[in-house]
Amino acid sequence: MPQGMLLVISGPSGVGKTTITHHVERDLNGVFSVSVTTRSKTPADTEGRDYFFVSPRKFEQMRDGGELLEWAEVYEGLCYGTPLAPVQQAIEAGRLMILEIDVEGAVQIKKKMPEAFSLFVLPPNEKVLLERLRKRAREDEALIQRRFAKAKAEIIRAWECGIYDEFVVNRDLDHAVKEAVALVRSEMFLRGG
Ligand code: 5GP
Repeated sequence: MPQGMLLVISGPSGVGKTTITHHVERDLNGVFSVSVTTRSKTPADTEGRDYFFVSPRKFEQMRDGGELLEWAEVYEGLCYGTPLAPVQQAIEAGRLMILEIDVEGAVQIKKKMPEAFSLFVLPPNEKVLLERLRKRAREDEALIQRRFAKAKAEIIRAWECGIYDEFVVNRDLDHAVKEAVALVRSEMFLRGG
């Protein structure tokens, strides 16, 4: 049975990483890792598909019980983590397992599993990033500015931490999707998958 591959995709909010992730998943027959989170469910979320929504107490139990491969407090007071068991199962079954997680989580993954392949999705420039955050328009300006500052800090952290194998610039979504799929496919090919 061939060994599977662990793929980490990160990028700031508003950069199109979820769309890219889902295309990679579909085109390369990957498995999307459903994270647990303590944030509240929104109408756009489906329990068990986008996230497993859990209480802070349950999250702590899972974390302390060794059920999470990595975890991070992504927003103040809101924790996100990757359940370990599905990752182990997918890798053992020779599948491509895809984690869409933040930089702190990706750093933990690379420490534990250096063979993981990691992509970071970048906006073409700051102006476009701010426009995309505004277009989402579900938040007030102060919150948009906070997200913008966080996104810029996350990009700098991604460059500095040195754990990302590739950076994909999303100038045009179709092009970025094709590039991400080609990079992951090439890596699988090189590893003999
Ligand atoms: P959102 O709440 O907008 O869906 O996601 C917020 C952020 O949390 C995104 O940047 C996403 O990549 C990150 N995230 C989602 N799941 C996990 C996880 O399991 N672990 C870590 N470290 N970050 C996650």
